[in-house]
Amino acid sequence: MTAPVRVRDPFAWLAQADRDRREAGLVRAVRPRPAESGLLDLASNDYLGLVRHPRVTEAAADAARRWGGGSTGSRLVTGSTELHAELERELAEFTGAEAALVFSSGYTANLAALTALTGPAHLIVSDAQNHASLIDGCRLARARVERAPHRDPVAVAAALASRPEPEALVVTDAVFSVDGEAAPLAELARVCRAHGAALLIDDAHGMGVLGPGGSGSTAAAGLAGGPDVVTTITLSKSLAAQGGAVLGPRRVIDHLVQAARTFIFDTGLNPAAVGAALGALRLLREEPERAERAREVARLLSERLAAAGLAVSEPEAAVVSVRAPSPEAAVAWAAACRDAGLAVGCFRPPSVPDGISRLRLTARGDLTGRQIDFAVGVLAAVSSGG
Ligand code: PMP
Repeated sequence: MTAPVRVRDPFAWLAQADRDRREAGLVRAVRPRPAESGLLDLASNDYLGLVRHPRVTEAAADAARRWGGGSTGSRLVTGSTELHAELERELAEFTGAEAALVFSSGYTANLAALTALTGPAHLIVSDAQNHASLIDGCRLARARVERAPHRDPVAVAAALASRPEPEALVVTDAVFSVDGEAAPLAELARVCRAHGAALLIDDAHGMGVLGPGGSGSTAAAGLAGGPDVVTTITLSKSLAAQGGAVLGPRRVIDHLVQAARTFIFDTGLNPAAVGAALGALRLLREEPERAERAREVARLLSERLAAAGLAVSEPEAAVVSVRAPSPEAAVAWAAACRDAGLAVGCFRPPSVPDGISRLRLTARGDLTGRQIDFAVGVLAAVSSGG
């Protein structure tokens, strides 16, 4: 057999795609960080500052020693350990849900909820600024999708009222990832009930920070345990591990086990991650003030940055965002912060829905007063060109 003559390069178009990205200033880079950067980290999603807590790292190490380096299979074959079952029980108990199901990520948990809980008889109403994993879930779902204006229960009600489909699911982030603003969950739940729709809440950023003892946005809105409410979370932010979960009524969780492709065909979550999440969850239950402290740090940071003349968001959870006058300024500010010893997130179009560039700060619950002073000092100097 001779190899066929190569008539054209099927990847030649990549060069043009790369030129287009460069011209638009949108090239992104993977920057591996060292274990000890020497920077004060306000860029991560480690909201409670637990990722290196000895109880968390020991729980991860114990789980790896006991169960191995991987889960060895999909959840319905060999990938469900007793540790997975323990985490599911404790997550349900903590958040006030009837049942929980653990996934390999928050992303796959969202794909599961959206694809397995809807079908051709459904309308999905999705907030315009929902996370990419919810948008992808909507794309994979075999349902009609309507994009509702951001945080607008009246528009959601109108979409539900005029639908020809008998079934409906409303989906929203509880806390939006870039600016940290909260969704009107109680109003959305009322609208859903009035129109016979279910409500899917992605609480990636509220879990561990909002609600009694950090039990999440769904509990904070008085919706935990509701028969028509489903919540997804990630284990990778407040819970200092990796993975995700769906929380909700038992009959919903039972259905996901049978029907969710990202549950059935994905390898079960790594035991070390299950152990770490359990460790963080147990710490938070013993020390619920950790959640309150993250909210307090967010308030302090936001007030002090505003007093220094920066355009800051009103923090609802542990995210504070600072508006920059241009994408170039955002990049320059983030670089100057780094040079001064402070790591911050930098968001520019097209990652931001409204085209406004900003820095994103994580108000970690373990920050000290001196660290807050330092962060405010650096940001004030950097934004004034000092
Ligand atoms: N939902 C939201 C709102 C998120 O911010 C993220 C991730 N950053 C996810 C879902 C996905 O979670 P994971 O990273 O665990 O896949």
